[in-house]
Amino acid sequence: MFSAAYRQQTLDLLNRYSFDVVVIGGGITGAGIALDAVSRGMSVALIEMQDFAGGTSSRSTKLVHGGLRYLKQLQVGVVAEVGKERKIVYDNGVHITTPLGMLLPFYKGGEFGPYSTSLGLKMYDTLAGVRKSERRKMLSVKDTLQKEPLLKKDGLLGGGHYVEYRTDDARLTIEVLKKAVELGVVAINYTKVESFIYDEKNTICGVYAVDQVDQTKVAIEAKAVINAAGPWVNEILEYDVKGQSKKDLLLTKGVHIVIDESVFPLHQSIYFDTPDGRMVFAIPREGKTYVGTTDTVYKDNPVHPTATNEDIAYILDAVHFMFPDVDVSFKDIESSWAGVRPLIYEQGKDPSEISRKDEIWTSKSGLLSIAGGKLTGYRKMAENIVDELVKRKEFKHFGQCVTKALSLSGATLLNEENFEAYIAYKADEGVRHGLTKQIGEKLTAKYGSNIDDIFKILRVTKDDFSNRGLPVDLYLQVMYAMQYEMAYAPSDVFVRRTGRLYFDVNSVLKYKGQVISLMADFLGYSEQEKTLRTKELEQLIEDATHFAKEGLYE
Ligand SMILES: Cc1cc2nc3c(=O)[nH]c(=O)nc-3n(C[C@H](O)[C@H](O)[C@H](O)COP(=O)(O)OP(=O)(O)OC[C@H]3O[C@@H](n4cnc5c(N)ncnc54)[C@H](O)[C@@H]3O)c2cc1C
Repeated sequence: MFSAAYRQQTLDLLNRYSFDVVVIGGGITGAGIALDAVSRGMSVALIEMQDFAGGTSSRSTKLVHGGLRYLKQLQVGVVAEVGKERKIVYDNGVHITTPLGMLLPFYKGGEFGPYSTSLGLKMYDTLAGVRKSERRKMLSVKDTLQKEPLLKKDGLLGGGHYVEYRTDDARLTIEVLKKAVELGVVAINYTKVESFIYDEKNTICGVYAVDQVDQTKVAIEAKAVINAAGPWVNEILEYDVKGQSKKDLLLTKGVHIVIDESVFPLHQSIYFDTPDGRMVFAIPREGKTYVGTTDTVYKDNPVHPTATNEDIAYILDAVHFMFPDVDVSFKDIESSWAGVRPLIYEQGKDPSEISRKDEIWTSKSGLLSIAGGKLTGYRKMAENIVDELVKRKEFKHFGQCVTKALSLSGATLLNEENFEAYIAYKADEGVRHGLTKQIGEKLTAKYGSNIDDIFKILRVTKDDFSNRGLPVDLYLQVMYAMQYEMAYAPSDVFVRRTGRLYFDVNSVLKYKGQVISLMADFLGYSEQEKTLRTKELEQLIEDATHFAKEGLYE
């Protein structure tokens, strides 16, 4: 039931049944809550107005990390809680999370020297419960430059090396949600909650929502409703009794840029200080280097945040500052993305100083809301809010949280020890299905134990990929995304199911026509829908890539 071809049946189900819980929002927070609730035995519906992970959860730095820099602000509690979650997120989904060595260089006259860096990293190791093999190592100047020769040499005193985890935020959200659906959650994208259903005591007992594809209205009944709408959390509260329980939120925007490794050949992930005292990541990934982020107050519509010339110039300045031999300018920006953080406002603090802690609160109508937090802490946040729910009389019979050791979709029986061997084994199987070893490896690394469903698609569709002028791996990804991950629009595939708009934009430019045709045929788009979805994709490509085209050369 997680196929885009079954949207109508899913909407019918939502209309017909009464659930224990309705979750509003299909970002990582909502997906985590749905998984926690269903795995305790509740019946759960999840409603998302865009695509799953269409909000902030596909626009982060894509790290599962404890937030080392929060130590600077003495946010010890946040670092301890989120830091401990890193390993759990990794263990539950080895195919979407990868350990990543991170280098923290320090300089003469900088805020931190060898002693304070060592102390900070040691504290981080302790608070986050980092295992022995991944604890911090302090490096000499020579060793630091050996790890990354592109670093600024002038004034370099050494570096601290520690381990974080790299992820694909949108795929993490999708794998959490797929597991939730496997356990019984009914989830739908492109369906917007627009108001609440109340009982005679003015307690919320469901939501009214509108399918954004054909404007059908659905009424979804539930014993409880959870508002996990991220930057839109207050908008949802507005629908409820005059928005009494609105939070004082501050939205801030963060931008990342992607540069080809031929221009910025970074080998080692670096976390470095900017000239204005902030900290920025530079991370090598899939033949590219991405750098970010900015942190500026954002007042526009959070649906389409985009990078401005100022954002890009700020990041380029940071790159020039830390990597003086790297010659990058606007013309080298292959892609970019922007995301909006919903932060709990703290008076007198700059965006970068505001705590990333989450907050849970209950409105008079019984609506439970959650805001703030980090991608990394999603599981614990979900546990905390569902714990709140089970304090209610009608939820008392549900059990305790079980997600700490619950594998996500694609991670069945996989772990750190066996994953590499599994990739090799499945790549050989892929060869027997007609794939190259390299494609078999790439697909298994990305989809984990769900690779069998991909092989099934290949067996059934045979050489349809070549008839449609598509490379086999992209064809399989599109078909899998539609049939097993409810991808409805080409942008769902290119942005959130494969990340190609960010890390392989040339394949998007080359094959977008063929992918749109395939999706139109499989999902039965009307001509109007096809035009709309094509325009939507063109706009996203333009937003992500236009800097290189516009002659904004420095
Ligand atoms: C630039 C940046 C970098 C970051 N980097 C990291 C990082 O590296 N690591 C980390 O751990 N965290 C990071 N974060 C934080 C992390 O991305 C967020 O905490 C997380 O993604 C928030 O998820 P969410 O589900 O709460 O919000 P969202 O992902 O925005 O989800 C909310 C969803 O609710 C939906 N919605 C809203 N209104 C309605 C409605 N009426 N009906 C139905 N659906 C609705 C929206 O469409 C949206 O999809 C970063 C954040 C930013 C902005």
